[in-house]
Amino acid sequence: MTSTSVASPSFGDLALLPAVLSAIETLGYETPSPIQAQTIPALLEGRDMLGQAQTGTGKTAAFALPLLSRLDLERRAPQVLVMAPTRELAQQVAVSFSKYGQNLKGLEVATLCGGMEYRDQLQALRRGAQVVVGTPGRIIDHLDRGSLKLDGLSALVLDEADEMLRMGFIDDVKRVVADTPTDAQRVFFSATLPTEIERIVNRYLVEPVKVAIESRTTTGENIEQRRVRVEGGAKLEALARIIEVEPVDAAIVFVRTRAACTTLMEQLSARGVNVASLSGDLDQSLRERTITRLKRGKVDVLIATDVAARGLDVPRITHVVNYDLPQDAEAYTHRIGRTGRAGRDGVAITFAGNREGRKVGWLEQATGQKMSEMALPDEAAIRAHRDQVFHQRAIAAVTKGAEEQRALVEQLVEEGYDPIELACAFAGLARADEAPIGRLQAPRKERTPRDGKPSRREGGPRDRAPREGMTRYRVSVGHKDGVKPGQLVGALANEGGIEGNRIGRIDIRNAFSVVELPNGLPSSILAKMARARVAGRPLEISEDRAPERAPRRRRDDDGPVPRRERA
Ligand code: ADP
Ligand code: MG
Repeated sequence: MTSTSVASPSFGDLALLPAVLSAIETLGYETPSPIQAQTIPALLEGRDMLGQAQTGTGKTAAFALPLLSRLDLERRAPQVLVMAPTRELAQQVAVSFSKYGQNLKGLEVATLCGGMEYRDQLQALRRGAQVVVGTPGRIIDHLDRGSLKLDGLSALVLDEADEMLRMGFIDDVKRVVADTPTDAQRVFFSATLPTEIERIVNRYLVEPVKVAIESRTTTGENIEQRRVRVEGGAKLEALARIIEVEPVDAAIVFVRTRAACTTLMEQLSARGVNVASLSGDLDQSLRERTITRLKRGKVDVLIATDVAARGLDVPRITHVVNYDLPQDAEAYTHRIGRTGRAGRDGVAITFAGNREGRKVGWLEQATGQKMSEMALPDEAAIRAHRDQVFHQRAIAAVTKGAEEQRALVEQLVEEGYDPIELACAFAGLARADEAPIGRLQAPRKERTPRDGKPSRREGGPRDRAPREGMTRYRVSVGHKDGVKPGQLVGALANEGGIEGNRIGRIDIRNAFSVVELPNGLPSSILAKMARARVAGRPLEISEDRAPERAPRRRRDDDGPVPRRERA
């Protein structure tokens, strides 16, 4: 792709509706991003499109602006349908449509996500929403109920199609693509192009315009990628040092499990860091509150798992720390894309032990960028940094003055104390609460086995009892319905509002499947899960009391593990 000499157009050069143009002006967008410049003209012409671009490139506006410009606001029926893999993403897209369409009279946007009330969704549809955004499971549900009709669609958008595939939504996606009227525009966005997606593209897209913003030039162009060599027990101290010394405005720290989220949050909080965690445990409104607190600077460090932080868009995030390695290059790209938003610079720091070099190699290959080795600040560096911070505080304090202390200090000087010695003593008092500097070698016993989270990779008596902390449930779909593990994960996670990685082993049998879920899930979540439809059937979930023997799985070595095998 040549992006050199061609001057980038302005939004005004694109044939967008004036009401849409005025909205992006209000939002302060100055020039279209590369993907927007390439996508908008073709979509305004009604062409089909396959867009390949990483996160943070401005995809939402790339499709929302032209599709909003083509709406017939008088026609009160779904005209644009957008499918996104998770609730968070769907909601973000819906909010973006509302923002970009803020000057369009009569525009109604419906959000159809799992785990949320049907009532609001039905009302928005009944009011004649022209734009519908949702997650696959719930969209299918509305189609089955007859509350959503596709016959009036003029455009269908798949956002993050590869992620939908990974979450097991492929059949739902195929069905919607197939049921969309033939003359409607079909627009697919995907970071990668697995064959399954390519097949759908070849079958259903008509002479699609292909737009690829090369990942090599966009991912991380403004993100500095570093690697820190650190092993399990020393990670906490390493993180604390980095947070202290790096010029962090806000940071997001990725861990692998929900349990690790909580543990790390407590540990950092105990060290006085302004920290919160974002995991699938929180219900929707709590998650949104946490994100708002991060945006407003009430929280500076957010501990998160991949699913919970997907698509998170907070411009003040200067640093991403991969405390635990991501499971693959895609997850890595999504993670580091949380910084460097809207053209700012960002830093991504990846913790990897000496035996994790191969994985780091894959990540580097995938992004086409080497990570630079970053040395952890040693004690001397921390002290030097603290001195520097105190130096600034001292200057500020002198400038501000402290007249009310004068009498006391003069008295001390009269008593014969040397002013410099006094000042040293005062500095010592002022710095008494600086945290002790920990050691980078943690004692062994602090290491908990994989953060107490049962691992799908480790062996054990699979045939007898569920793993620690897990309960088995039976769901009423199995091989005979053609169900795949990924589909169950996607449906249970989205409907129940929990993270995919909290779902344990899945055994698919002929007439039913057995799924491990965390102990003590509230019945409200189970009820929501039971409403999910998989392979066209409701799930009907109940506790499983007769565990059966399941085949033992191969234990992978250092290589990338298929997603469902990961803890
Ligand atoms: P993606 O879906 O590719 O990850 P988003 O659509 O979420 O990216 O956009 C990323 C961020 O960039 C958002 O904060 C969005 O408001 C902002 N943005 C998008 N387009 C522009 C633009 N042309 N100028 C400035 N900011 C933009
Ligand atoms: Mg997006």
